[in-house]
Order: sequence, then structure tokens, then C-alpha cells
Amino acid sequence: MTYHPPFWEEPKKMDFESEVKKVEGNKIVLEMTYFHPEEGGQPPDKGTLGGYEVEDVQKKGDDIVHHLGEHDLEVGDVVKGKIDGDFRYTCMRGHTGAHIVYGAGREVMGKVSYAGFDIGEKKARIDFETDTHIDKKKLLRLEELCNKVILENRPVRWKILDREEIEKSEKIAFAKEIPEGEKVRMIEVEDWDRGVCSGTHLENTLEVGRIRIEGKKKLQKGVTRIVFSFGEEALKRDYREERSILRALEALNTNKRDLPKKIRHLQERSNEMEDKIETLESEKIERELEEFERFGREDFDLLMQTVSTEDTEMLSHKAKDEVGEDEVMVIINERESLSVLVGVGDKVENISANDLIQTMSHELGGGGGGTSNFAQGGGFDEDAEKIKEFLIELME
Ligand SMILES: [Zn+2]
Repeated sequence: MTYHPPFWEEPKKMDFESEVKKVEGNKIVLEMTYFHPEEGGQPPDKGTLGGYEVEDVQKKGDDIVHHLGEHDLEVGDVVKGKIDGDFRYTCMRGHTGAHIVYGAGREVMGKVSYAGFDIGEKKARIDFETDTHIDKKKLLRLEELCNKVILENRPVRWKILDREEIEKSEKIAFAKEIPEGEKVRMIEVEDWDRGVCSGTHLENTLEVGRIRIEGKKKLQKGVTRIVFSFGEEALKRDYREERSILRALEALNTNKRDLPKKIRHLQERSNEMEDKIETLESEKIERELEEFERFGREDFDLLMQTVSTEDTEMLSHKAKDEVGEDEVMVIINERESLSVLVGVGDKVENISANDLIQTMSHELGGGGGGTSNFAQGGGFDEDAEKIKEFLIELME
């Protein structure tokens, strides 16, 4: 194996000097470099080379190629390299964090395989091949285990091994297709996780600081993505959440410990209120239904009343019970959008509730329907008074 960049052994070295080996337009290759290229889910390092900003770092064969803007560097120049330490440190935390999350995944989900990894601006993701369904409890357990391992300050080591040694060992993650006779680099979080990895890592778990499992996403059958934040970003998110919880607790006038009790109490209150409203509404409808205007007709009595209720279901239920056998009952409900209920008693001949609604719809716009005994309609162009006049005339 010829590829053995110096950042593998000294991941915290941010300043170095080296000689320019190749120049191809804006692309520079050095004798050696501490710049990490975009590889294995780790983004390319940021920084400067000979004072010029490094815009991208890519691996081409065993070469690490620095992409600059305009420059005047030439082969043989000795240049100073300066890596953005904060950015690199974030990547180291993310990479070390990924090994911790992977080990925790094995504990929580049982048999897992590695399916991908990436460090983003604020979060990292790791994809697991697993058949285990990961619910919220499992996610919480995953986070708990990660933070336990961080606190245990476990050493993180790396060594170069033959492919055969890797294949013999159990529980090695990140193992992709490795060419025969090739040597590979193994990262080990002591007694927790071992994986083949080319990234930069911290020397102990404590430096990761904090891991927050932010969520999961099922990518396809048998592949689940776990998203996590780490280090300072995780703390920022903790406190942002804590502040909104605090506002909610203040509004509810309670504290975290009493919150479940408080919510139960509020639910009970809300149920009681709903019951009360329903009872009041029912009483109101009953009162209103007692005061029908009565118009005597040859074969039946026409009863009319205007009410106002949102509970149209309760109204129609009660109205059905109220219709006498020789009565035609019309109830106009003025609430929000006006609706009309018509009930026709069993002994009333030649009048159908459905026909009345159809005639109204035809003459006054709107629509509706029902049976010959009971029908309702709405959306009419006229107000309650006009509808009333129309129906009285219709059943003269
Ligand atoms: Zn790694």
C-alpha cells in the first residue's frame, strides 16, 4: 500500500511545509500533505497553500490534489500549508462519533452492516443495513449508549493491517471490497467498534463531547439512515430545545417532573368541558324546539321554527323525534351557512320531505335531499325569512 497520508498519524497537525511536486493549471500536488481529501464521507479540508485558498481537495490515484484559484506556484517551490483547524476538528469529532454510533447500533439492533456515511455542515448520517424496526425508544437507547461511551473516555486507536487479518476478525464494520494483498487501516474504539476507515479521528471518545440522535429515515427495505449531531452543535440543539420546553412549562405553570400529571389534569378538564358544552347545546335545542310557530292546514299542521346551532347532527336527531304523525315540521338553522330540515309525519299524505327540499333547491338555489319522511338541504340564495315565506306559501 503506497497511500499512507501523514494526517493518518498526526490528525491534529494543521501547519506544515512541503515542496510542490506537480502543477496542472489550478491543481497542485505536494511531496506530502496534511490536507484531507473528500473521501469516505469526510468532506475536503479547508485552508490555504502558499497563501492561496484551497477550494477543494480530491484524491486521484494515490495523489492528493489541491484545487486552488489563480496562483503562481511552481514545481520545486516550498510552500506553507495551513489547515482550518475548527473545520477539521468538527470532522474528527464526526468521524469518531460515527464509530461510536455504529457500535451502539450493533448493541441496539443486533446484526447490522455498514451502508454509508457522510459528515454534513451541522449533522452527520450513518446508514445501517438492518431488519430491525427502529422506534423512538430504540433511538433514545442508541443515544444513551453513545453518550455513555463518550463519558467512558475510551481510547481510539488506528493501525494498518493486512486484508486477511481484517477478514479473519469478527464484527468489523465499514469493510468494503478490499483488493487482494492490500493493506487496510483499521480504527478501533476500545472494546466497542472496529472498522476500516481512512478518515481523521480523535484519540479518545471524550473529545466528541456529546452525540444527539436527531432522527431516522428508512431509505429502502432493510436500510435505515440514522442522523446525529455531535460536539458543540449537539449542545446548541440541546439548549435551543431546553429553552422552548421552558417556555411551554411556564405557560402551563408547571415543571418537568409534574408535566405528565399536569397534562392528564388538562385532558380531564377538557373532556369535562366538552361534556358540559354538549349538555348545554342539547338543552338549548330542546328549548328552541318547544316554541314552534304552528299553521293549521286542511290535513296537517305546519310547524316552523328558526334555530341557531353548530351541532347539526344533534339537531337533526332531535328533530326526527319531534315530528308528530300529522305534522310537517320545518326547522331553519341559521348558524354559519343556513340549512333547512324538513320532517313529515306518517299520516300526512301528498307531501314528501325530499320533494320539498328538491323544489326549494330548484327555486332558491342550493341542494340537499333525503327520504319522504325526513330531508335536509342548504346553500340557498335566500335568508331565513324568505325561505319561511316560500314554504308557507308552498303549503297553503
Ligand atoms: Zn472513521
